[in-house]
Amino acid sequence: MKTTSVLIQSLCVPCFNRCRYCLLSWNGKVEGAGWEQSVQLAERFLREFREQLPDMKCSFSFGYSMEHPELKEAIRTLRRLGSPSASFLECDGMKMRSDEECLDLIGMLLEEGIKKLSFTVYGLSDYHDRFAGRKGDFDLILRMMKAAEKKGLSFSSRIPLTTENISQADPLVDLLKNQGSESVSLFVPHEEGRGKLLSPLRLDRERFLQLSPASQSLLNRNVYRTEGEWLEAPEAVHDQNRMILLTLRPDNMEEYERQGAISVLRKIEALDERYYSVFPAFSELAELYGDPCSEKLYGIRDLHYHYRTRYLRDHNIQIYDVTDERQSGSRRF
Ligand code: SF4
Repeated sequence: MKTTSVLIQSLCVPCFNRCRYCLLSWNGKVEGAGWEQSVQLAERFLREFREQLPDMKCSFSFGYSMEHPELKEAIRTLRRLGSPSASFLECDGMKMRSDEECLDLIGMLLEEGIKKLSFTVYGLSDYHDRFAGRKGDFDLILRMMKAAEKKGLSFSSRIPLTTENISQADPLVDLLKNQGSESVSLFVPHEEGRGKLLSPLRLDRERFLQLSPASQSLLNRNVYRTEGEWLEAPEAVHDQNRMILLTLRPDNMEEYERQGAISVLRKIEALDERYYSVFPAFSELAELYGDPCSEKLYGIRDLHYHYRTRYLRDHNIQIYDVTDERQSGSRRF
């Protein structure tokens, strides 16, 4: 297993939404280490990684949302640290703004070198607001898009598909294209974090085929296949690389500050090895839990996670969860 990249993150910036499927299970309580302290440590770690492991990619980012109270300075810090998020901003869960305030924000983002925005839209107005847990969020997104279009800042949109919102997808795609979205992509949400709440709503092939052909083409069917399709070649699924997520939290800062970046990296890699060592290979999990007749759509990482969760439950295994992105861990691919 090769570690190809490290993302250092601090979940120190609140989000204004409470989305039903939040990967980070955002509940209004900030779990990350403070901004200043995080930046200071990230700077040292990035320097050490770049010096000692020059072939490995590394970067720093923050969450939950990008609504940093000093956003301009935060973008400058990201740029100084060589972070890709210094030019690409995910605009989910931003604070409420009027038309004029949206224009001011977009103007500032352009001045600071942001090249592209992205928005996640859950459905048409009322449905989106309910899903995002905030009244007016849909209209805010449209105001931001309008401002971006006016100022010439390009943006893309993503729509998670479930059996619940599928009937809204065609009109929503049209609406987002008319708003000026450079691209619209569809995806099937995974079960990690609060995403498990959506598992009864997982999209199946039959309902996917109810979309117009134009909308169907916006879901990458190589990435999202039915469970049955994935099970036709379970031996093809073998992860060889991993991304290490180094999450800075008040309960690990002291320990991390005492150590070198490589030593912290090795410890998280060991957590990753220990977690995956408790599971049989994907092909065995597929034998145990797979349903070759299932027409439900999954990304392979999601299907693997789905089987692992069942295996942990069936064997009553308690283990540090490296897939919980609120803490340090990994993402294999
Ligand atoms: S916008 Fe993102 S971080 Fe905020 S609640 Fe929604 S999914 Fe979670």
